[in-house]
Amino acid sequence: MLYEEIVEKDKQFFMPVYGNRLPIAIERGNGCYLFDNTGKKYIDFVAGIATNAIGYGDPGFLDHMKEQMNKVCHFSNLYYNEPQALLVEKLCSYMDEPYKAFICNSGAEANECAIKLVRKHFKEQGKYKILGLRNSFHGRTIATLSETGQDKFHKDFVPLCPEFDFFSTIEELKEKIDDKTGAIIIELIQGEGGVNPLALSFVKNIEAVCKENDLLLIIDEIQTGIGRTGTMFAFQDYGLSPDIFTLAKALGGGLPIGACVAKAHISFAKGDHGTTFGGNALCCSAANYMLKVIDDDMLYYVNEMSKYFFEKLAPLHPRGKGLLIGFTIDKLNNYDIVKKCLEKGLLVLTAGFNTVRIVPPLIISKKEIDKGVEILFEAIKELEEA
Ligand SMILES: *Cc1c(COP(=O)(O)O)cnc(C)c1O
Repeated sequence: MLYEEIVEKDKQFFMPVYGNRLPIAIERGNGCYLFDNTGKKYIDFVAGIATNAIGYGDPGFLDHMKEQMNKVCHFSNLYYNEPQALLVEKLCSYMDEPYKAFICNSGAEANECAIKLVRKHFKEQGKYKILGLRNSFHGRTIATLSETGQDKFHKDFVPLCPEFDFFSTIEELKEKIDDKTGAIIIELIQGEGGVNPLALSFVKNIEAVCKENDLLLIIDEIQTGIGRTGTMFAFQDYGLSPDIFTLAKALGGGLPIGACVAKAHISFAKGDHGTTFGGNALCCSAANYMLKVIDDDMLYYVNEMSKYFFEKLAPLHPRGKGLLIGFTIDKLNNYDIVKKCLEKGLLVLTAGFNTVRIVPPLIISKKEIDKGVEILFEAIKELEEA
């Protein structure tokens, strides 16, 4: 189909939540490259928004998925499911005390599960409020939207769930805790909010406040997890063992899957929660593959490539960790940079107020980094000269 025909159908029939999308239609991918429907090639520093951690067309992944597809894709949670059982075992194996996991379809659903777990856990005490950080992002359902600390996402969707509130400092956090507060949720590096890593001391203080007030600490690892920041989960680098953590994005390597993982004593009972599609054999199988390939060698590689990337981007004062990288150029608009890079064959993302975000596949090579960064600097130069 011609690009124009696709756009016309989209404009006529798709609810316009994505507005004018970037002006290409992607047709296929290979490694760390995407191709549009005219055959033009792009270096991909977006990876489906930190999702396609092993890029596109990995032969081992394809074989694995074909094998599962040939057996069965979905059959409901009425029956036991080997790929799902293997996945929850693997997810809990990263922790050094007992955990249990629930498998769903997306990040928002993983956070919804966490919200319900807090209520369930503190039902007797009536503690249901959750405090989050300003500038956070936790999803688009009504509850996770209410939990998201950015007014731009809220504006037309009031009334939101009233049981969420926000803080920026430890003092403010302490002020806001009352006898209904049950949990604190944070991203260790705010992704959508603009690639803002939290200081270790700040996180340690939050952890201490949780302990003092008998609150559950929820770490939203949806963007940071599965090797993105150079450790399997960002909380490992902060020396935390969260009461609850949530995953999605890279967990399925491009297939839709989310997980909510909690200490074993924080759990549901029969009938408390469920999903039709969530945890189906196909998506769990994808996640099992991802968790197999994202091993210590891969994490070592991510850290090497991260060092290389940060050195190359040094003139832009990049921030972030691993392969979750952001920078801001005060005099340029982030979306203009995204569009200029796209014209030149490089995909990058925006984030926050004026951040350019880079989240390539974790398998990105030095050669691809060289080429992509070269395009990025060219684009910036042209915009600065315009
Ligand atoms: C992407 C994201 C979500 C929402 O995930 P969906 O799969 O889009 O529902 C939640 N939290 C964080 C930190 C995210 O980056």
